[in-house]
Amino acid sequence: MLRQTQKLKQIKEEVIACQKCPLFKTRTLPVIGAGNHNADIMFIGEAPGSQEDKTGVPFCGAAGKILDELLASIKVARNDVYIANILKDRPPANRNPQNEEIEACTPYLVKQIEIIKPKIICTLGNFATAFILNKYQLADKIQGISKIHGQIFTAVDLKIIPLYHPAVAVYNANMIEVLKKDFAVIKNEKKE
Ligand code: URA
Repeated sequence: MLRQTQKLKQIKEEVIACQKCPLFKTRTLPVIGAGNHNADIMFIGEAPGSQEDKTGVPFCGAAGKILDELLASIKVARNDVYIANILKDRPPANRNPQNEEIEACTPYLVKQIEIIKPKIICTLGNFATAFILNKYQLADKIQGISKIHGQIFTAVDLKIIPLYHPAVAVYNANMIEVLKKDFAVIKNEKKE
């Protein structure tokens, strides 16, 4: 087994047993992450929604369909990237993640990043963007996603590209074009 696969399996077991915040009581399945354990590109969303909670698979509902369309627009296969979230468990009624939940859960995400060692992290929406910019000493760059989507931030050993959360295009079809433009930035950066 790949070294990364073994380590990710260990994280999976830790998350399944985790009771560091109350979300484990209300979720059905944790959504740990999925994709290539050696990916160059990692996408980080916010938290599982109702479909993800039922299946344990990230971005498998309506927002996931948009994400698939966006990946297809730059000819990147879902299996080539790794997809995870800030929270592993669904917040009741899809409410925003709370600070204590983010604090309890993100050490798992940080370990996933350390194992996968992506060259590019694409953050989906405000919560993932703020967390990742802060983690990579770029807290001074944090602004609302409408201000910084599609920009490239350089950290010591990787690039960070904040993106709108794909859910914005579920009810506002115009946003798909904005997202496609930003995904083209990923494609360009991947070539570098
Ligand atoms: N929204 C997210 O942020 N993550 C998912 O996995 C699904 C929807």
